[in-house]
Amino acid sequence: MDVKELKFEYKHIAYIDESQISKAEEFSKGYKNFIASAKTEREATKYIESYAIKNGYQKFDKKVNYKPGDKVYYNNRFKSIILCTVGNEKIDKGINFCVSHIDSPRIDLKVTPLFESDQIAYFKTHYYGGIRKYQWVCVPLAMHGKVFLKDGSSVDIILGEKDDEPKFVISDLLPHLGQKQNDRKLSEGIKASEMNIIIASLPYIDKSSNEEVKEAFKLKALEILHEKYNITEKDFIRSEIEFVPATKPCDIGLDKSMIGGYGQDDRVCAYPALIAEIEAKNVNKTTVTVFTDKEEIGSEGNTGMVSNFSFDFLEDFVKCLDSNIDIKEVYKNSLCLSSDVNAAYDPTFADVFDKYNSSYLNKGPCITKYTGSRGKSGSNDASCETMAKVIDIIDKKNVIWQTGDLGEVDIGGGGTIAKYMSQRNIDTIDFGVPVLAMHSPFEITSKLDIYNTYLAYKALYES
Ligand code: MN
Ligand code: MN
Repeated sequence: MDVKELKFEYKHIAYIDESQISKAEEFSKGYKNFIASAKTEREATKYIESYAIKNGYQKFDKKVNYKPGDKVYYNNRFKSIILCTVGNEKIDKGINFCVSHIDSPRIDLKVTPLFESDQIAYFKTHYYGGIRKYQWVCVPLAMHGKVFLKDGSSVDIILGEKDDEPKFVISDLLPHLGQKQNDRKLSEGIKASEMNIIIASLPYIDKSSNEEVKEAFKLKALEILHEKYNITEKDFIRSEIEFVPATKPCDIGLDKSMIGGYGQDDRVCAYPALIAEIEAKNVNKTTVTVFTDKEEIGSEGNTGMVSNFSFDFLEDFVKCLDSNIDIKEVYKNSLCLSSDVNAAYDPTFADVFDKYNSSYLNKGPCITKYTGSRGKSGSNDASCETMAKVIDIIDKKNVIWQTGDLGEVDIGGGGTIAKYMSQRNIDTIDFGVPVLAMHSPFEITSKLDIYNTYLAYKALYES
């Protein structure tokens, strides 16, 4: 053996297989369409459900005895969804999982959001997930959500996405008057209490009287909302309204090698998982593709991974395949790719990364052995057995991949849903796309990485 062959390094995908550039370009078109039209967990669930139905998936029914090749879906409360394909092997041989999340950092409304101040009407907000607040001001925002009315009916809202629709915005100070604000720490550059969304600046005018109406600016906003959606101020109490960047995903760079857009964490893993689930052929082990909610706030709630919903469903599903099988046996033999993003190495901010242990744009999906912070705390920390198993599966299909940590030790850290899968005694590993400017209103990914993530998930499902 040549001594030089003892070394190993990850390479830019274009140096390994240039022909992938056009394939990745083709794949990215569907992806851009997905993130443009599914900006919230509800919209993503709807998109995935209808895409699944079009591709032959049936709504899960406890009374059916499913057989190999059958495809089912389970929609949990319109905010998370699971897709499955029954494999040829018996289910006690285990399941191949890809588990991604479809919620993203954003700006939620408070329960009582409407107020006016000095003749401008505003919404009060409470941000959702880990955001750097200063990044979210002076960015055009769109309003997405669902509101229940007094009569029990509900209305879905998407306002600000079309060119001719109004947008919304949080203001910031002009530089001329920003000197005092400039002395704040960056984390307090914009405070949460300053994240008020501007929604109107005309008063409601009562034509029947000469007197000015009290809170006329708030009332004008309510009048318009009522005309459009039939909602009143009280209805906000039974609503979920999320403000997201009103921008469309687009190509980035002269070579169009990257994609910029909102909400790529974690739709950039959800989409490849969706397509892999739908396209996988000759499935031996049953595939289960989970699209979960609430990851950005700790996977809480009954639509997040902490909830029993996925595992309750799986128990029912396994019973439909073989009522004699112990679900514990199934989990013990399963393999899960916790399909979530990692931070791509950013040369501009090199000092927060370990350049020998970072994921890079264009070197493929990143296997993250452990997440966590301060001594791997809170991490799943996959075993070497699991690492070996996954590498074997994707190497056999010539997927290009890399490994990487989330930044240098003790600089920061983060978590994923991996630990909630491994809690069930499932071999789990974090596996997803490297992202630049993660959690910002405009995240950046590489088309080649997205394409290879899809190839990897498909390799797992066809293994
Ligand atoms: Mn994520
Ligand atoms: Mn995240």
